[in-house]
Amino acid sequence: MQMAHYDTAVIGGGLAGLLAALELAKKGRSVIVIEKSSRLGGRAMTNTQHGIQLNMGGHALYKTGRAYEILQEHGISLEGGPPSTKTNVIWNKKLYSLSPDPISMLTSKLLTLSGKINLMRLMLKLSKLDAQRLPVTMSIREWAEAEVTDPKVRHVFYALCRTATYTLDPDFQLAAPALAQVQRSLKGGVLYVNGGWQTIIEQLRQKAQQAGAHIVSGKSIREIQHANGRVQRLVFADGEELAVSNVISTASPSESAKLVQGAEATALQRWKTEARPVTAACMDLGLRKLPIKGRHLALGLDQPVFFSEHSVSAKLSDNGEVVVHLIKYNSLGTSDPKADEKLLRETMSMLHPGWEQEVIAKQFLPNITVVHDYPHRGKKKTAVGPEVPEIQGLYVAGDWVSHGELLADASAASARRAAEAIVSKHA
Ligand SMILES: Cc1cc2nc3c(=O)[nH]c(=O)nc-3n(C[C@H](O)[C@H](O)[C@H](O)COP(=O)(O)OP(=O)(O)OC[C@H]3O[C@@H](n4cnc5c(N)ncnc54)[C@H](O)[C@@H]3O)c2cc1C
Repeated sequence: MQMAHYDTAVIGGGLAGLLAALELAKKGRSVIVIEKSSRLGGRAMTNTQHGIQLNMGGHALYKTGRAYEILQEHGISLEGGPPSTKTNVIWNKKLYSLSPDPISMLTSKLLTLSGKINLMRLMLKLSKLDAQRLPVTMSIREWAEAEVTDPKVRHVFYALCRTATYTLDPDFQLAAPALAQVQRSLKGGVLYVNGGWQTIIEQLRQKAQQAGAHIVSGKSIREIQHANGRVQRLVFADGEELAVSNVISTASPSESAKLVQGAEATALQRWKTEARPVTAACMDLGLRKLPIKGRHLALGLDQPVFFSEHSVSAKLSDNGEVVVHLIKYNSLGTSDPKADEKLLRETMSMLHPGWEQEVIAKQFLPNITVVHDYPHRGKKKTAVGPEVPEIQGLYVAGDWVSHGELLADASAASARRAAEAIVSKHA
């Protein structure tokens, strides 16, 4: 098949790829998106089982984050609602009520009096903190050890960080971006999206196509060819070629490096070796009902688990069924799918005894990559992307191309940076 020449080819039809394509097409650039899967969406896909919409693990959009802001600028409709504010915590296989309001903190049976005072101080501190003024290399462990004296309250703090950032890496995770994200979750709040994140992907697809972008799915890129320091063409897995002036890769750092011959001599190599991928085990359930009414949200304190009923505020089923997401956060490079599934099942049984009888839809993702990288210690100070400096016309975007943003906010912000760089350089 002979393909037209495009100004920019975007590798990947997830959030970052579709946003970058939309922004470029709106600026009048000819752009093609190439997605290897038969479906668009990447990790923002939603799977429908028996009329029940399950995201790939629990997904929450930060209302004061970059993704929300950029999606709104493009007129993407973001309907849904917030999580329940009534929070339970799990400690030593027991459940305690502990919500982030003063009365709940003061009356919780989890903490001693000094623990309660310590927790109130922590919440006050978090509400006033200017995270950008923290030392740039400070880890969240260092921050917690300096600021939180009560050992149980430290567990609460780590659970808040895990839930807001999806990351279990306290010795490496930088305090400044992590605490800014905790503040975002406490102040601005998050949105559980009606119909799941696929609704965002579908709107992006429509808008990008209306603006003139060409979108191809079910085709994989094998190589980004370059010569004389410039991108020349893409080679598809089936051998077909496409001449392009610019490429934005939204594949992972290791996949992006694999696509480029001689990547060892480029920044791609450093981004790949410095990356600390974040993974999790996720159990996503559609249920006729929840056995215990009003038990919508629980954070593990001594176990890195999280439970949330998303259908408490978002419409995620045709017939009013309940959708819940359970997550077990993995530390770097560790995954034990059997043990993790057992832990998630036990957590569910503790929260909602008899839940198995109510199951209509179920998905277990044993070790899914949440983000390919995030702001952590041990990275060079120079920013990741948008350009790959050694190869003109080559750009990167995705959740690992962070300039301080986390999760989907990094995907959206980096997509915009890559699109803007192309527009400004090749006006
Ligand atoms: C369990 C889980 C929970 C999450 N929760 C949240 C949350 O609560 N809040 C939040 O903000 N974010 C959350 N995220 C993160 C968010 O889903 C991702 O950051 C975002 O969807 C990533 O989008 P992306 O476009 O950068 O990457 P992807 O979605 O991975 O898209 C990249 C695409 O590139 C394609 N591709 C790769 N290589 C090639 C190739 N050679 N040729 C063609 N195509 C290729 C892939 O198939 C993929 O579709 C969560 C993620 C997971 C997994």
